[in-house]
Amino acid sequence: MDRAPDAVARASGSRWTVVAIAAIAGLVVGAIASWALTGHDADDPDSSAGGPAPSAAEVAAAIGPLALPTDCPLQIDDPDLLPNAARDYRGGVHEGVDFICRELGHDATTPLPGRVMVAARDLPEPTPEERVDLLADAKALGDTPPWTLRLLYGQFVVIDHGVIDGAGHVVTLYAHLAEVDPALRPGLEVPAGTRVGAIGESGTQAAGTGEDAPYSIHLHWEVQVDDEFLGRGDEPDEVRAAYRTLFGL
Ligand SMILES: [Zn+2]
Repeated sequence: MDRAPDAVARASGSRWTVVAIAAIAGLVVGAIASWALTGHDADDPDSSAGGPAPSAAEVAAAIGPLALPTDCPLQIDDPDLLPNAARDYRGGVHEGVDFICRELGHDATTPLPGRVMVAARDLPEPTPEERVDLLADAKALGDTPPWTLRLLYGQFVVIDHGVIDGAGHVVTLYAHLAEVDPALRPGLEVPAGTRVGAIGESGTQAAGTGEDAPYSIHLHWEVQVDDEFLGRGDEPDEVRAAYRTLFGL
C-alpha cells in the first residue's frame, strides 16, 4: 500500500471514521477473543524467554525460506516498497512489502499453513474526502495508529501461523484485495499455498477516486512476529537482507 501521493492536509472529524473504527474494532476483538480461547499465550516462548531478542535476519531464517505470496514482482532493491520506508503523507513507516502487479488477474496465496483470523470482505471504502481526513489526522499525530492503518487496507485477510521456533508468534496480512477468497472465514485452518484472494487496489487512493493509477494494483503483504512487523527500526540494507533470507533469494 501507500504509494499514493501526499494528500492535502485537512484535519477534521469524520463520522464515517468512527463507524468504521467501531466495525473493525468488533472484528479485531472477536479475533483476539477466539485467539485467546485457543490458549495461544501458553505457547508463546516470549512470555518466559530471556536474553536478547533475535535479529530480523535470524527471525527470517527461522521462518523461511518461504514461497512468494504472489507471482507479481518483488522489487527487493526498491526500499520504498519494503518495511520501514517513511510514509510522509500519513506519518510513520511502511510496515509490509508491496508486490506491484499493475493489472488485475493475480492471486495472493499464503506461504505458510495457518488459521484465518480475519477475512474482511465487506468493509466500507473511504470516500476521497474521508481518506484525506484519515491521512491528515495521522500526519498530525506524527505516526499512523494501527487502527487507522486498518481503515486503509481495503478488503484484507489476516492468518495466524502460531509459534515458529526461533522466531515467535507469526501472523501474515494480505491487503488491498479485489476479492477475498469465498472459502475463507475466521477460524478456518488452511494449508500453505491456499488462495487468499484476488489482488486489487481496494483501500487505496485510486480506489476512492477512480483515477487511472496502475501502480495501485498491488499486494501489501506483512509478516508480523510477536505483534511487530519484521524489520521494525532496522536500516534499509538490514531490512532488504532479512527479506531476502525470508524468501530464500
Ligand atoms: Zn504497502
